[in-house]
Amino acid sequence: MIIAKNALPGLLDKLAAEYEVYAPVKQGAYSLYKQICNGAEADFGYVNSKIPPKGILFPQSEKLYSYSVTGEGTSLEECVDTRKKVIFGIRPCDAKSLLLMDNVFNNDKFQDPYYLTRRSNTILVGMACNDPAGTCFCTSMDGGPFDQSGLDLLLTDIGEAYVVEAVSQKGKDLAAALALGAADDSQKAAAAEARESAEVACAVNTVGLKARLDVNFYDPIWEKFHEKCLGCAACTYSCPTCHCFDIVDEAKDCNGCRVRNWDSCMFPLFTLHGSGHNPRTSGKERMRQRIMHKFKYFVDNFNATACVGCGRCIKNCPVNLDVREVLADIRGSEARSDK
Ligand code: SF4
Ligand code: SF4
Repeated sequence: MIIAKNALPGLLDKLAAEYEVYAPVKQGAYSLYKQICNGAEADFGYVNSKIPPKGILFPQSEKLYSYSVTGEGTSLEECVDTRKKVIFGIRPCDAKSLLLMDNVFNNDKFQDPYYLTRRSNTILVGMACNDPAGTCFCTSMDGGPFDQSGLDLLLTDIGEAYVVEAVSQKGKDLAAALALGAADDSQKAAAAEARESAEVACAVNTVGLKARLDVNFYDPIWEKFHEKCLGCAACTYSCPTCHCFDIVDEAKDCNGCRVRNWDSCMFPLFTLHGSGHNPRTSGKERMRQRIMHKFKYFVDNFNATACVGCGRCIKNCPVNLDVREVLADIRGSEARSDK
């Protein structure tokens, strides 16, 4: 199937009449996924967004329910978001990150209705990466610039148009509703060529990494990683797989609401007990937790690494702390940086 670039704004307008449509929007020097009201707002001349689109399904701050207490008792009103959504232009690494997040919000012990309702009502239209950034290492994390995992449709930029592949039934249904035309042979060949020439320059060797992490909890190597870390949490807030949250009640008189907010293992307060004891006393323990959670505990729990190699934690860290160098050090091999 094919979408001519000059037809895309109109097509997004059509989608916006039925769905909440989120797409990359230029914000100064960056791109962010925003809800758009008309197709002209979207800007697909981006490499990747500053912040991942995870907040569309797992908002940074989310009201779970509101309550009020009266003489007759307590009433609750749940705030489950059932609106239909399309994320248009999501990168393959970010789509894969949602498959990883599904393990957290939908498993044998817990099913989170807030996340799961949004998730099932959301269509993911991917945009393949013809020209990955120097900080991308998705191919080392079981992904790739044209990976279709978790997507419903995948678009490939061939210059004047996008070649569209349907990946799921949801994607097929959406393509049929939009009455997309068929791609001709030369357009299909151009998409295949884009796929062939897309190059992820950076490789991170993960062979033996998990085995090393299984035994190095007390290794002195953890001392050095946190030395320059400011504890700002930019790495975790901008990571598409980080999902830690805190829950607070905001109440006034007899009315209130329960709110879920993103939190971060890089903050000292994250593990501060009511007694005043903090089991993660310094940046060393917090940095170890961040790395262990992604590359050991998540593997133990869900048989997958909680990193998709998007490179955001590298780009957004104010002191250039590079997770690729940390992993290379842990494996005992030579560190490298393409930043
Ligand atoms: S750890 Fe860094 S590179 Fe990996 S998914 Fe998170 S932000 Fe991206
Ligand atoms: S972004 Fe960098 S400085 Fe900030 S908490 Fe993460 S590693 Fe530390």
